[in-house]
Amino acid sequence: MESLSEIAKACGFDACGVVPVDILSRERERLEQWVERGFHAGMNYMANNMEKRENPALLVEGARSVIVTLTNYYTPKLQLEGVPVVARYAYGKDYHRVVKDRLFKLYACLEETIGRKIMGRVFVDSAPVFEHEWARRAGLGWVGRNSLLINPRLGSYCFIGVIISDFEPSTYSLPEKRNFCGQCNRCVEACPTGALSAYEVNANLCISYNTIERKGEIPSEIKKKMGVRFFGCDACQDICPWNRKAVAHHIDEFSPNEWLMWMSREDWLSLDEETFRERFKNSPLLRPGLEQIKRNVK
Ligand code: SF4
Ligand code: SF4
Repeated sequence: MESLSEIAKACGFDACGVVPVDILSRERERLEQWVERGFHAGMNYMANNMEKRENPALLVEGARSVIVTLTNYYTPKLQLEGVPVVARYAYGKDYHRVVKDRLFKLYACLEETIGRKIMGRVFVDSAPVFEHEWARRAGLGWVGRNSLLINPRLGSYCFIGVIISDFEPSTYSLPEKRNFCGQCNRCVEACPTGALSAYEVNANLCISYNTIERKGEIPSEIKKKMGVRFFGCDACQDICPWNRKAVAHHIDEFSPNEWLMWMSREDWLSLDEETFRERFKNSPLLRPGLEQIKRNVK
């Protein structure tokens, strides 16, 4: 039988590992403390479904393993100088759909390989799952001071996709035990708003949260520090030495939207709803909607 990593590679993933299900009590405790301090800002969903987040068997009955995949989305291409800037993850089509389709493919390939139906579910950043910890346990990297998963070969510009199921492999992956941030503190120093500390992000201060998830006005102290960013922020990834060797992805769906690459501030502010929907069909920018995008650009 081909190894899981080989099958995952054939399905388009850049890395893959598998771990037995477990109860993640320590992670739940940390998350609860984070929520208690109000660091989740308006993301109330982070305070919900703690039991399910802690115990994957409550998400998938009879679950035996957690398969974790990484999909590289790095591109060296940049927007035209001087135009409003979006985070790289939003250059192309919405990753939720793209990664999910690949996970379904992997799921079907596994069923074919083992010769039986697998009972499980796929998850891409849309359910109460401790993706980073599962990825670490699956040997795919460590969680850096920027609170993101860092893979030593790929860096941090990766989407995490998960399959929780009754699949039982012949061997499990070995966890990444070390954190290779060492004495580095660059991401903490580079964060324009001081949102990072001790491997945690305070969403109230984070430009990503403020430009993508926050409803209503963005606080003036954040506005002053956003610079040219209007959708997400890559400052704590761009500075990370582990991203120096990042290689370009080969996924057509993530190719940069041509409008995004050159649209000026004036272009954005004069955009009408119909044109926005036409130009940004399937883009993550559709989620907050044009009104919120214009608020950010302003
Ligand atoms: S995304 Fe930007 S604002 Fe948020 S923690 Fe990273 S550097 Fe700071
Ligand atoms: S910039 Fe340095 S401290 Fe921050 S995640 Fe990268 S290696 Fe770790």
